[in-house]
Amino acid sequence: MQYRSFGSTGEKISALGFGAMRLPMTPDGNNVDEKKAIPVIQRAYELGVTYFDTAPYYCENESEIVLGKAIKPWRDNILLSTKCDIDDADGAHYRQRLETSLRKLDVGHIDFYHMWGINWKTYEEFIIAPGGPLDEARKAKQEGLIRHISFSFHDTPEALTRLIDSGHFESMTVQYNLLDRANEQAIHHAHEKGLGVVIMGPVGGGRLAGFSPEISRMVPGGIKSNPAIALRFVLSHPGVSCAISGMSTIEMVEENVATASREEPLSEKERVQMMAVLDETRRLSDLYCTGCDYCMPCPNDVNIPKNFEYMNYYRVYGLKEYAQQAYADLGVKDTEWVKGLKAEFCTQCGECEPKCPQHISIMDQLEEVVRVLGGAE
Ligand code: SF4
Ligand code: SF4
Repeated sequence: MQYRSFGSTGEKISALGFGAMRLPMTPDGNNVDEKKAIPVIQRAYELGVTYFDTAPYYCENESEIVLGKAIKPWRDNILLSTKCDIDDADGAHYRQRLETSLRKLDVGHIDFYHMWGINWKTYEEFIIAPGGPLDEARKAKQEGLIRHISFSFHDTPEALTRLIDSGHFESMTVQYNLLDRANEQAIHHAHEKGLGVVIMGPVGGGRLAGFSPEISRMVPGGIKSNPAIALRFVLSHPGVSCAISGMSTIEMVEENVATASREEPLSEKERVQMMAVLDETRRLSDLYCTGCDYCMPCPNDVNIPKNFEYMNYYRVYGLKEYAQQAYADLGVKDTEWVKGLKAEFCTQCGECEPKCPQHISIMDQLEEVVRVLGGAE
């Protein structure tokens, strides 16, 4: 396993982190299957993983409990991370949530306690309010209940840069992968400012799980699997200390550890070549849609850029299966970050097209999305 400096925290961290969000579940899906889950976590530790990340709601609220049981024998040898919802400016709520996590994990302290999925609005309205989450976090740090104040994040790269510059945080967990490089510069910036950087979704939330010949061609000599190259790509960013992968089997742990143990995740030549191909594919994607949102909102609630983004996974990266699944879930499995409806709800009212700076024939393109991702082709 490779170990890297973790910003200015003074910690060393394994390049691969264990994400406890996909622990094996019982057949009814209601509980973590502890008999299977604990050996997976144990194997990661044996192979040198030292960063273990969880959150209160993962795995039907049981992830923290099971992770706590698994790490008990070697708790002091690892770095433990969990997260706190920030939905108001009440410091007492932060404290309650911290105490609940400490109890569920059955530990005396948390090493990296994240303000969970924050954005600039949350920061301004809630986090820095007097007596709010930040004041409470500092108090908890003085008491030794948490060792480092961290955040995870879903907002624009500009907002991310401002959060880094606030000087309040010691590490951050952000999205970055082959398909979504929006935070690339902000990660450099965080590194320069001394924040430890952890990457979530190094394999694109499952998008890169299948094999894509387009991605294979990005690396000289080709590759055996997308997840391996996706992980190597993320770890070759000089600002990244650790990539967390949600692992549910011992085989996955062993495969990821082998990838993260490479001395040099990508050679300079390989990274340069990949960046060139990625920039080219980015340009190709932008021909279809840059995701600028100017065409929105649609009176029928069609999420136009999201439909086109899924279409790009198919036409640019050849990830048809993933694109079809993502399309099937759109408007069905609403998440905080993905809202709106599928292309098939477009009534061809024409309101969006004049607003598109790329002059995309949105209505025709949406029809194609329905045909291809809706399964007619
Ligand atoms: S043409 Fe379709 S996508 Fe565009 S605004 Fe009208 S309903 Fe929405
Ligand atoms: S305005 Fe055009 S480029 Fe921008 S999101 Fe809409 S379709 Fe895409």
